[in-house]
Order: sequence, then C-alpha cells, then structure tokens
Amino acid sequence: MEGEVLWQSVLGEIELSVSRASYVTWFKNTQLLRKSSEELVVGVPNIFCKQQLEVKFKDLIEQTLAKKGVLDTPVSYKIHTPRKKAEKLTDEPDMQVSLDSVSPSGPQNTTATSSSNGVSHSYRQGLNRRYTFDSFVAGSGNELAYAACQAIAEKPGQKYNPLFIYGGVGIGKTHLIQAVGNHVLAKNPEAKVVYVTIEQFVQEFTDSIRYKKAGAFAQHYRGADVLIIDDIQFIAGKEKTQEEFFHTFNVLHQANKQVIISSDKPPHAIPTLEERLRSRFQMGMSIDMQTPDLETRIAILKLKADLQDFQIDEESLSFLADNFTTNIRELEGALNQLMAFCDMKNVDPSLDVTKAVFSKMNKRQKHITPKQIVDKVAKYFSLKQEDLVGPKRDRDIVVPRQISMYLLRSELKMSYPRIAGELGRKDHTTAIHSIQKIEKELVVDLILKQNIQEIKQLLNV
Ligand code: ADP
Ligand code: MG
Repeated sequence: MEGEVLWQSVLGEIELSVSRASYVTWFKNTQLLRKSSEELVVGVPNIFCKQQLEVKFKDLIEQTLAKKGVLDTPVSYKIHTPRKKAEKLTDEPDMQVSLDSVSPSGPQNTTATSSSNGVSHSYRQGLNRRYTFDSFVAGSGNELAYAACQAIAEKPGQKYNPLFIYGGVGIGKTHLIQAVGNHVLAKNPEAKVVYVTIEQFVQEFTDSIRYKKAGAFAQHYRGADVLIIDDIQFIAGKEKTQEEFFHTFNVLHQANKQVIISSDKPPHAIPTLEERLRSRFQMGMSIDMQTPDLETRIAILKLKADLQDFQIDEESLSFLADNFTTNIRELEGALNQLMAFCDMKNVDPSLDVTKAVFSKMNKRQKHITPKQIVDKVAKYFSLKQEDLVGPKRDRDIVVPRQISMYLLRSELKMSYPRIAGELGRKDHTTAIHSIQKIEKELVVDLILKQNIQEIKQLLNV
C-alpha cells in the first residue's frame, strides 16, 4: 500500500476505536512523512502529540499497522511544521484556497482566489477549528462577551454591530471571536467569513499596493459576510491602513454585514486612532472581558484536560488555577507542562508532583544558555544539535535553525553576530534574515506559533 493511503487507512480504523476527543487531539493532524522497509516516519503537530503516540498509543498503532500487513517496522514521530500547501490534513487555520468554501453560485469571485505576495485568500482562512463555543467555558469575566458572541453567531449582522471586545492578554478573546466564525460556517458553509489579525491586514494591504492588487484586496474584505479583526490596537499610527479599514467598515456596515473586533484596550484608549474610526467602533456594543474567576479557571482546566484524555486530580487543578491567575494561555501552558512531565516520567499527577514541577522550573528559568536553546529546539524537532549548527540546507533543518536564531534573539537578546556564530554561520545577515522571516511568518502561521510556544514552555520562558 502506498504510504499516505496506508496511513489514512490506519487512521480510519483508529478513529473507530478511540474516543472522538482522543482522535481529534492526537491523530487527526498527523501525516505520513516517509515510508521504507526500515521505518515509518509520522509527522505530528507538537511534542505532546508525539509523546502520546509514542507511549500511550504505541500498541494500538502497531496492531493496526500489523493488520494492514506492516509488521516489525519501527514507527518514529517527528514534529512537523507543514508547508502552507500541505495543511489540508490539519485542523489548524486554513491558509490555502479552499474552493469548496467559496460560493459556487456567486459571481466569478476573483477575491476568493486572489493572492497578494503569495498569501492566498479564502473565506475561512485563519480560523482555527478548535476554537468553538463548545470548547469555551463561560463564567464570570467572560459571560457577557460569550452571550453577545452567541447571539451574533446565530444572527450575524442584526444585533450588536460592530461588536468590540476588549481585555488583557490570553483571556480568550481570539477563541471567542473565532467561535463566531466557526459557528456561522457550520450553519452555512458558504458564508464568507474572514478572520484576520490586524497585523496581517496591514501586511496584506501594504503588499496589495506594492504588487498592484489593491482592487482584489478591497474586494476580498468588502465581500465578507462576517469580518473578524483581531488585535485592532496595532492599527495605531498606521494612517493608510486606518483609511482603508474605514472604507471596508462602512461598506460592510451599510450592507448589514457583521463586523467583530478585538483589542487589548477600549476604543478611546487606542492611541492615534482616527476619530472617525473610534466613533465607528463605538456605534455597536463594546464589552470589557475580564480574567475569569477561580471557579471558571478550574472549569477551563478540566475541559482542557478532558479534551486530551488527561486524568488529573482536583488538588492539582486548584493549585494551577491558584497560581496562574491572569492569563489563560499561561494556565493552559502550565497544564501542558505538567502533562508532558507526567508522560515523560510515567507518573500520575498529584499535588506533590505539580508543586515539584513548578518550583523546579521556576528555579531553572534564570540560567538559560544559548546551548540549551539550540539543544531544546533540536530535540523538539527530533534533530541532532550538529544538524542545526552544520551546513545542511534541507527545509526540515532550515526552519528549526531559523527558530533557534529567533529564540536566541527574543529570549537572550543576543547580538546578530553572536547568534550567527552560535548556529555555525559566518555571516550575521543570515541571522537577521532568519529572524525577520520567523517574525513575519508568526503573524500568519499559527502552527509555527504553537511550535515556538511549546519550545518556550519546555524552556520555561
Ligand atoms: P486572547 O486572544 O485574549 O489573548 P486567546 O483567545 O488566544 O486569548 O486564549 C488563550 C488560550 O486560552 C486559548 O488556547 C483559549 O482556548 C484558552 N481560553 C481562554 N479562555 C477560555 C475559556 N473561557 N474556555 C476555554 N478556553 C479558554
Ligand atoms: Mg488574541
């Protein structure tokens, strides 16, 4: 059987024998990277997935492969940052043109397949399928935002338009506004839902001018049924983009199309925001999202643990929820760290284990060295440290090398020549280009973002 067909049939069988949550969390985003008589290499999206497949599901995978006639071939797992074009298999944001989500009956929709500087457009681009209402815990702090988003998702464009949600980092804004997009699309797969971070909007707008595609750009955004703009605060100071956005907003609003905006501060506190935009943002409903209270944080942890089939005791949950109070992303990161630790050491979580994990990590934090960063990146991607500092230029090695450079800069503030030296490069411009490339891709590539977050968690920075 050909490799990919084989793996798909293995997945098909496994889907029937594990819970839905397990399948989606651990198997759905895998793909076969290599098959030979000596080995099978399976690409997985992150380290937690790798650990689960290696340990917990090892027997199941081997038995299923044996049923397909593949016996005694070792399987290894490799963290894989898929190329943009190969993202079909993931449930991460869709970055490629997905023709089936574009209305076939509409006029020949050039915007649906327009491309500015290689960034393809589709109406569902950027939405992470995991961000749904079902996977969101409503509780004190986010109740109002949750209710408004649900109302909008049922009847976009009719109430609360625009909806402006603001609040601190990591409290669920992106999750909630994407849940609206996913809900609308679930009800009507042909709806034109556009989710975009403002950084991406700025970038695409700039590119569209440079590559003379301003018309296609405007048409794409103005053609949306639901436009979701994340982190609008970064529009501050960008006059041309503000103007473009103002026109987009007006066209959509007049046509009763829904606009949803998130920000880390209320409209009046965004500096250098043009008055006419500010007043537009205040036309609909503004909601202040707050950090969820202790009870809600515990419920969130329970849900996240459940989704990953991780059995965890109440005391450990309370300990985590007590210690990570302001940022749910960090709270979730802590749960993942604990899970990885328990998996690696093969122990069950308990209050003692949880306390030990976090006190140990806090101590280590201060002594992080360049070598540790390069080592961790290599390990994360199942590479050898020599590969990263050596001459090879395979994509599988180049991206982790660029990530190492990025982390040396962001975490240790090292100079470019030193960063280049650390990775065995003579020319410091290599470091500059690599870091810029990662910074740019982080805006649009959520898988890359997740990979880097997980490496940081392993380094505890
Ligand atoms: P923000 O956009 O406000 O910075 P995110 O939406 O990115 O925050 O949320 C950070 C992480 O926390 C995400 O993984 C999200 O799923 C999770 N999260 C935040 N609030 C909740 C919640 N109430 N229920 C479930 N998950 C949540
Ligand atoms: Mg966000």
